[in-house]
Amino acid sequence: MTSDQLLTAPGSALPDTALPALRAAVAGLPSYVPGRRSAGADIAALASNESHYEPLPAAAAAVAEAAGRMNRYPDSAAVELRERIARHLGVTAAEVAVGPGSVGVLQQIITGLCDAGTEVIFAWRSFEAYPVLVELAGARPVRIPLDDAEGHDLDAMAAAVTERTRVILLCTPNNPTGVPISHDRIEAFLRSVRSDILVVIDEAYVEYAEAGSGPDSLALYRRYPNVCILRTFSKAYGLAGLRVGYAVAAPVIAEGLRRTALPFAVSALAQQAAIVSLDAGEEMAARVAAVTGERARMATQLEALGWRVPASQGNFLWIRTDDELRARLVDAFDHAGILVRAYQGDGVRITVADPASNNRVLRVLAAHTA
Ligand SMILES: *Cc1c(COP(=O)(O)O)cnc(C)c1O
Repeated sequence: MTSDQLLTAPGSALPDTALPALRAAVAGLPSYVPGRRSAGADIAALASNESHYEPLPAAAAAVAEAAGRMNRYPDSAAVELRERIARHLGVTAAEVAVGPGSVGVLQQIITGLCDAGTEVIFAWRSFEAYPVLVELAGARPVRIPLDDAEGHDLDAMAAAVTERTRVILLCTPNNPTGVPISHDRIEAFLRSVRSDILVVIDEAYVEYAEAGSGPDSLALYRRYPNVCILRTFSKAYGLAGLRVGYAVAAPVIAEGLRRTALPFAVSALAQQAAIVSLDAGEEMAARVAAVTGERARMATQLEALGWRVPASQGNFLWIRTDDELRARLVDAFDHAGILVRAYQGDGVRITVADPASNNRVLRVLAAHTA
């Protein structure tokens, strides 16, 4: 079926019976393809970079408590959570905006800064939500291919800046390749781009990154007020299903992000769970250490098997493939009951989880060669 047929009443070509038209930007978006669900107990769900751990006990308790008040709207300004995040990072609550996941915050960023026809630059391949949110806003996505080491090509990104550029998205460590951007490279980049362009540093996986591998984003933010830090409770904190993330930005920008937010988008359950999660730093760090230990073990074994896997600073590993190998691998993982994320033309991303699931992944990859 063509998009024309989709947009017209069935069996009718008459303009006066046409259905209301979707905006071209929306009609052009890919259809939502539901991911296969992890149904059986023997399915390893390694496609979405979630935490495989159950929620932190304090977060589960906070949710249960807040659930008793769900007849009420949550605090739309999320004052308590913003103050807790501010204390966690050593900034003020005026510099913090929250949203339903960091994808929600990113939508607030794009709608807050991008008029139709403006441009947003990001690396590709990177997070799949980037082009969707940009196109939805009527802005133009500008994709800059990753370099040969699967990292951001910051020179090419700087060269792509035009007078229409409003936002640049840097993803470190990059999803799906796991490659971080060093502090010095981002700083040199910030010196070279105009201060009226918002440079978003998406750190969804920062908790999994070795100290010093990526930027000290708060130091960069303090020196370059056009920096916006984007973080989430969905990954290492294990709250993907609750939808809460945040941005740190100059107060006037953060205020703009709060204005563009959907009212009450972050539930009281999510707000309370996020607050207590920030108090559970040690528990979270222990979980992260287990995952990064597994990441190292898997990387070593994969290398021994002949797979070329970039050193990942996230809770996932990246295997670049052609489409023939990708199809073979997805098939093999499928038969083994393992859900992974496949990217046409690029490769396969596998979430690092518990040792038993990881061993299943290794067994599949041991039976196949690159
Ligand atoms: C998972 C992820 C996010 C977070 O999404 P949420 O909306 O916070 O669940 C943001 N950025 C990147 C690069 C991600 O991989």
